[in-house]
Amino acid sequence: MVMMSPLIGLEGLGGAAPVGAELRDAMGYMTAMGRCFGCGRTFSFNPVRVPSFKGEPVCEGCMTLVNEKRKAAGLVPHPIMDGAYGAEEVA
Ligand SMILES: [Zn+2]
Repeated sequence: MVMMSPLIGLEGLGGAAPVGAELRDAMGYMTAMGRCFGCGRTFSFNPVRVPSFKGEPVCEGCMTLVNEKRKAAGLVPHPIMDGAYGAEEVA
């Protein structure tokens, strides 16, 4: 069996607001900061729109990687809603 990210085979990624995320109001819409479920990177996102798993957000980089793997495996890519990610990134 080929080892892949545990995110690859997940179903049910959705817009559940991450638990424990620090919410703040920026530019009139809700932005949250949190750690990516996949890579642990801190990033900003819209808690309503960001793909998440078990209440933990998944960053754009991981979603891109996951979707490439899913497509390669013949699976349907997870949708990523417009505005899921904030403009700023925190290293
Ligand atoms: Zn990530």
